[in-house]
Amino acid sequence: MDERDFFIEKQEVRTHTINCPSCRQAAEYQIRWLKRTKKPSLPPRANEEDRIRFKAARDYMVRIDDFVRCNTPRCGKRIEITSLQTVAFL
Ligand SMILES: [Zn+2]
Repeated sequence: MDERDFFIEKQEVRTHTINCPSCRQAAEYQIRWLKRTKKPSLPPRANEEDRIRFKAARDYMVRIDDFVRCNTPRCGKRIEITSLQTVAFL
């Protein structure tokens, strides 16, 4: 059984403050995350191994956006998001 069968997926936008390394301005950006919330129960086709994995599974979020465009006029450079983790447990 795939890990996707364990979770309900929902896209979520969160606001984060990010510093631009080029112009050194901090600003708020809308970052997309994919939120995976554990299902209330496993589908009936789950086997013993799936049940063990499901029990250990936790809700988490995966960051979708890797880059933002600097919103400072005259900069507009691409900023790689390094200040946020790629996976966050809830
Ligand atoms: Zn900038």
